Amino acid sequence: MQQIANLQRRFFNTHATRDVKFRRDALKKLRAALKEWEPRICDALQKDLGKCAMETFMTEIGMVTSSLNHTIRSLRGWSKPRRVHTPLAQFPSVSRVLPEPYGVALIMSPWNYPVLLCLDPLVAALSAGNCCVVKPSSMTPATSAVLAEMLGSLYPKEYVHVVLGGRDSTGVLLEQKFDYIFFTGSPTVGHIIMDAAARHLTPVTLELGGKSPCIVDASANLRVAARRIAFGKILNAGQTCVAPDYLFIHHSVKDAFVQEYRRAVTEMLGEEPLKNEEFTYIICKRHFDRLMELMQDATPVVGGKGDAATLRIEPTVLDDVTPSSASMQQEIFGPVLPILTWDKWDEVEQFVLSRPRPLASYLFSTDSANKKRFSQHLSFGGGCINDTIIHLAVHGLPFGGIGDSGMGSYHGKAGFDTFSHYKSVLSKANWLDLPFRYHPYSKWAEKILRLFLR
Ligand code: NAD
Repeated sequence: MQQIANLQRRFFNTHATRDVKFRRDALKKLRAALKEWEPRICDALQKDLGKCAMETFMTEIGMVTSSLNHTIRSLRGWSKPRRVHTPLAQFPSVSRVLPEPYGVALIMSPWNYPVLLCLDPLVAALSAGNCCVVKPSSMTPATSAVLAEMLGSLYPKEYVHVVLGGRDSTGVLLEQKFDYIFFTGSPTVGHIIMDAAARHLTPVTLELGGKSPCIVDASANLRVAARRIAFGKILNAGQTCVAPDYLFIHHSVKDAFVQEYRRAVTEMLGEEPLKNEEFTYIICKRHFDRLMELMQDATPVVGGKGDAATLRIEPTVLDDVTPSSASMQQEIFGPVLPILTWDKWDEVEQFVLSRPRPLASYLFSTDSANKKRFSQHLSFGGGCINDTIIHLAVHGLPFGGIGDSGMGSYHGKAGFDTFSHYKSVLSKANWLDLPFRYHPYSKWAEKILRLFLR
């Protein structure tokens, strides 16, 4: 690991990656490779998660390709030094801000979108001119192996290197000094990463998770709301960091919503979702058991069954849930949706604000006052009004958490910014050297200084 880090640092110090053309070429290579490797990536994701090809394209390959296109198009503009105003006191000089790469970046990704969450940060890191060590999750071995092979065939290891393996290799990796660490995963491991980074004073981005509320008020279009919320819970079987975690619905529309949700699930997955081959399964038996356990102290009013043989769980809605129910004690990360109800909007704010700040929040409403309160009073990483999840597909919206759901952001320009240090340089001409700041100080010089520094 140390050798790799040293090799990459030496390569970085050749300044090759500072050249914008070099970076664009590297990104173009990745874009072409994604096309070529698509069948193998699809096979691997089918093996690891039972993800169908359509979902693999929509949520992994297509997303990275779109991110690559946007970045390749915009990179020249993003990389340009920016001139800023220089106060008269510093005359005659020019001040510029220059984006520069950090150096050697470590990217660690989780298992739930193993391609997207590995390659999207990589696109950002390479666009900014960094060398990268990439550590995909060991929970998706087939996909991680394909990624290692693909990236290994595209780049020399002094530029991009993939490290495979479990906790042991991660532990050794984290002992090395990196110039930036970009971690996507659970808040628990987030603590470990930040601890390790602190030893080297390495800056970090933590893309974590948490319980993302989905609020529905009495004015919502329930049919559309149910479809869009069900989409968020069915996609990747709810194993999405920004999936609506729990439903907080106005009591007057709860029963009607449940009916619409049942209909939406049937329309999307048929009468027997457990038999639907295109419905992603739960990553492993441990998580399957955890999710089945979460349902025990509530009443399923939609779904509720699981199949241990295929590791599929029906899209489920849980009623008779209280804030102390099992499903409200942890991030669900599965197709299970507990329902809590409210009467007055203030209860929504009180409840959400008294809990750790979520990565995402959603509101379904046609009431402009509630929309405004949602956007202005609640604190969360990002979210949508009248939809779920899709805010992360907009390049112009920085994606990241706040508080317990993470720090820092990426996507589009925000990703380039995350992996860049903005270096400030003032360049002064020599033809004039104003004497006020030099000893010996005089009353006259002070007067002039006071004039300038107003
Ligand atoms: P995880 O934290 O268990 O693993 C993430 C990465 O950390 C993996 O590469 C894993 O190998 C490594 N890791 C695991 N345990 C470690 C340890 N003890 N020491 C060092 N490294 C370790 O997360 P996960 O289970 O793979 O993913 C699920 C979590 O990730 C959820 O909380 C979810 O919300 C979050 N997530 C967040 C985002 C986001 O963009 N904010 C995206 C996807 C998932």
